[in-house]
Amino acid sequence: MTSRIALVTGGTGGIGRETCRQLAQAGLRVVAGDLPVDAARREEFRAAMAGFDVDFQPMDVTDPASCAAAIAAIEASHGPVDVLVNGAGITRDATLRKMSREQWDAVLSVNLDSVFTLCKLVVDGMCERGYGRIVNISSVNGQTGQFGQTNYAAAKAGMHGFTMALAREVARKGVTVNSISPGYIRTAMTEAMPDEVKQQVLAMVPAGRIGEAADIARAVVFLCDERADYLTGVNLPVNGGLFISF
Ligand code: NDP
Repeated sequence: MTSRIALVTGGTGGIGRETCRQLAQAGLRVVAGDLPVDAARREEFRAAMAGFDVDFQPMDVTDPASCAAAIAAIEASHGPVDVLVNGAGITRDATLRKMSREQWDAVLSVNLDSVFTLCKLVVDGMCERGYGRIVNISSVNGQTGQFGQTNYAAAKAGMHGFTMALAREVARKGVTVNSISPGYIRTAMTEAMPDEVKQQVLAMVPAGRIGEAADIARAVVFLCDERADYLTGVNLPVNGGLFISF
């Protein structure tokens, strides 16, 4: 790959930082967009990225003004965004009967509304330049539903519809739009699960192991390859066989 510019939202998180590292290894200049993390965590992130072409850009994906400012700052420092990985995500689990409006809104805002906001900000430029790669990090739970996750499952399933529709709109412009649906991946998000639940999940994975962030990052690099130009509108499950469909 040539020196394309990639923005990875949620870039300091578990999957995000491994994605930043692997995209940089593949030759891209990478910007990790994330909440304005505290100085200690930012320093830790910089140390983890030492030797890789990875910058940090504070941004709140739920705030369109913050996203617009972040894109403008990236363009000024590095150049236009060629690759967008929408990786920022949160969970706020509760059964629907107990779920508050705030829990619903927060999850839809971070996981789905942000995809609209960020794609809007970069897609015109990608179309004008005749090149772009957009990868939306969805979830197996957006394919199957999950107990206690009507908000998260709706947001992640919504990403698939968005991905397929935008893929059709920009295919002739050299822009591909795909999603990845991770299964259970070892990050802070899943570390919070009780041990008993983790064991139950593990028992359901044919591959016999929980996924690693590197498994997802490799799939992102694959979809972002310049040669992957005939691969669009696809959802790529990376789940160790947890959910198999065609
Ligand atoms: P992490 O919690 O490690 O990373 C998520 C990142 O998103 C964090 O850095 C977080 O910042 C950031 N973030 C949250 N809210 C905002 C916001 N408003 N603006 C900018 N950044 C924000 O989770 P994972 O790495 O596990 O998840 C990455 C993606 O993969 C998510 O979309 C998740 O839904 C998806 N996924 C993960 C699975 C798993 O098993 N881990 C399975 C399926 C999908 P901060 O830490 O400061 O809150």
